[in-house]
Amino acid sequence: MEIIKIDKNSGIPLLGVLPFGIIDRYHNSMIQIRATTLCNANCEFCSTDAGVNSRFHKINYEVELDYLLEWFEYVAKLKKEKLTVFLDSVGEPLMYAKFLELVKGIKESGLSERIVTVTNGILLDKKKIIELKKNGLDQINLSLHTLDYEKGKKFFGMQNYDVDKIKETCIEIVKNGIELWLVPVYLPGVNDKDIEEIILFAKEINAKVGLQKYEKHKMGRKIKAKEETFFKFYRKLEELEKKFDFKLVYKGNEFKIKKAERVPVVFENNEKIQAIVKLEGWYSGQKIGVAKNRCVTILDCDKGINSRINVIIKSHTDGIYLAK
Ligand code: SF4
Repeated sequence: MEIIKIDKNSGIPLLGVLPFGIIDRYHNSMIQIRATTLCNANCEFCSTDAGVNSRFHKINYEVELDYLLEWFEYVAKLKKEKLTVFLDSVGEPLMYAKFLELVKGIKESGLSERIVTVTNGILLDKKKIIELKKNGLDQINLSLHTLDYEKGKKFFGMQNYDVDKIKETCIEIVKNGIELWLVPVYLPGVNDKDIEEIILFAKEINAKVGLQKYEKHKMGRKIKAKEETFFKFYRKLEELEKKFDFKLVYKGNEFKIKKAERVPVVFENNEKIQAIVKLEGWYSGQKIGVAKNRCVTILDCDKGINSRINVIIKSHTDGIYLAK
């Protein structure tokens, strides 16, 4: 699969699209940084259809380290607050070869309050955990959906997925002073018992649990599990909280996220703009264009790279621009 490298000379801004760069969704001190779209797993229920067996993605992106850090500093200055930085991805953040340097660069900038990553944990080992802690990583959110050996392989779509090794990794994370959150996706009717076992494991090793609601995405991979309503999902959380005497429901204000400026929204819905096509989109049929120092995903576009085209902004939710 082709990997498109995005660097300073590319002329591609790192704001405006979902698969790479920086996402600033709200008037608060939290941002997401996405360095790569690559993933080493093939989860049966992957909401982004990532991984080597992806149906929809024929390319991947990777952003050069210095360029990403330059944009991080730019965004941090616009937001005028020390930031909680989520190093996440539409794939697996640790597939980024310079992940450690990324953590280090963010920490050394003095512009972050907290650095968190979201990972499947497969690429972590004791040495990496120690280095990540030393260089400033504060928290790991680890996707763990079962403690059963065979089910683990099936869920992650990997014959060599080893849940026992992941459990050891969890223990090392806590031992080395990185806050650990286990973040299983609750698949009603599929991993109910597994979720209970994960809660008991979290209690035992002093980790937290942030259960995720299963949602079927149009372009994601789906599994035969029921999609609960939010009401039912929270009832389930409360029921499990009582049963295990373990906190599972968290309110926004418990995460110490402060109010902050938001990166300016530069386009309005229905605005007519001229963009220069710069990249193939992450989904086929799409292109990524550039205008006003932002990337814009252009739907149903067959124009060549470097073409100038007139498009209309269809949405700008969370600073992610879609045009047609
Ligand atoms: S769910 Fe996460 S780990 Fe699994 S394939 Fe998708 S991006 Fe990769």
